[in-house]
Formats: sequence, structure tokens, C-alpha cells
Amino acid sequence: MADILYVYKTSIYANLTNKCPCRCTFCIRNNTDAIGNADTLWHKHDPSIEEIKKAVDDFDFTGFKELVFCGYGEPTNALDNLIATAQYVREKHPDIKLRLNTNGLGDVINKKPVAEILSKYIDSVSISLNTCSSEKYDEVCRPVFENAYESMLKFATDAKKYFGHTQFSIVDTIPQEDIKACQKIADDMGIYLRIRKYSA
Ligand code: SF4
Repeated sequence: MADILYVYKTSIYANLTNKCPCRCTFCIRNNTDAIGNADTLWHKHDPSIEEIKKAVDDFDFTGFKELVFCGYGEPTNALDNLIATAQYVREKHPDIKLRLNTNGLGDVINKKPVAEILSKYIDSVSISLNTCSSEKYDEVCRPVFENAYESMLKFATDAKKYFGHTQFSIVDTIPQEDIKACQKIADDMGIYLRIRKYSA
């Protein structure tokens, strides 16, 4: 069975689903089957809430400050389990901060706006901006949805309104002028932009 909870650097990560509407050219899933202390992050089937709760019960949270919803898939593809897991962790470990790492396509995946509801259970959100235009986004992220970039930006607007902390992220492998354009988009929206170093 794949790891549901694993440790990467100083945080606990929750790997709730392998489903994702994108096929990003840079996706780490293309290069390796696991990260951090996980053995594999490929589920034979996506975990049920009972399996997730058991993983939470069995995990030693001592010394950790944060749990991040981020695995080998898009967490909002498992919206009900994402919310139920956040509720369960908050109940059992109220001092642990909860963060969602997302491609920002939760609204189109779930056919409804999801930022407000998620903000009730999760402290902060990091959204993969990835690039600076719809055309480039379609080339790099290869989403199954049309107008995915616009949908991600709409989610980000909502997230900024509802979450305690919202940030965009990009990876530093894109051209400098695209980084600048991303910075402008983030600045115009009043959202912090995190520029991550690429790690294969
Ligand atoms: S959105 Fe994330 S999980 Fe999905 S393909 Fe892109 S990098 Fe991989």
C-alpha cells in the first residue's frame, strides 16, 4: 500500500489521491515513485477516509508543526476526503497548521467554487501559478479542461479572500521574462509569489 502520510523536510505530507487533471511536463511523478521518507506514493486505489484516519492515528506527530496536503495527485480531486481529513487532524492535533498545495483547478474539478469551504478547515494555500499566460499553461500543464489558467486565477482570487494566507508558486526553470510576468500577475492580485528552485 502506498504511503498516505509521509515526511518531507520538516513537514508531514498527506497523499490523498493520484488523480489529477493535468500532465505537467515537470511533474515529479514522471521521475520517481516517492519523495521524502515515503516508499511509494502510487496508490493501488485512492485511500478511503477510514484508511486515512488510521494513517493519522498511527503517525507520530511529535515535533511537527505543519501538515501539507500534497502528494502524487491533486488534493481537490478528493475533496470530501480532503475536508474530512483536515477536520480529523484539527480535532486530534489542534496545534498542527494545515496547508493545501494545489494546482488551483478545484472549482472545475468539482464543478463548484471550493475556496471558501476549504478555508474553513485549512489554514493556508499554495497555488501552482507555473507560468504567465493561458497558452503557456496549456503547453506546460496540459490540463484536460479548457480555460484552466483562467479558472486557476479565479480560484486564487477567492483563496485570497477566504484563506488566512495564500501564495502562488513557480519553479525557477522558466525564462526570466516569464518570471517577471508572473511576479506582475501576483503583485496585481496582491498575492505573494514564491519562486522555488527546481528539484528533480
Ligand atoms: S498538477 Fe501537480 S500532480 Fe498534477 S501533473 Fe502537474 S505537477 Fe503533477
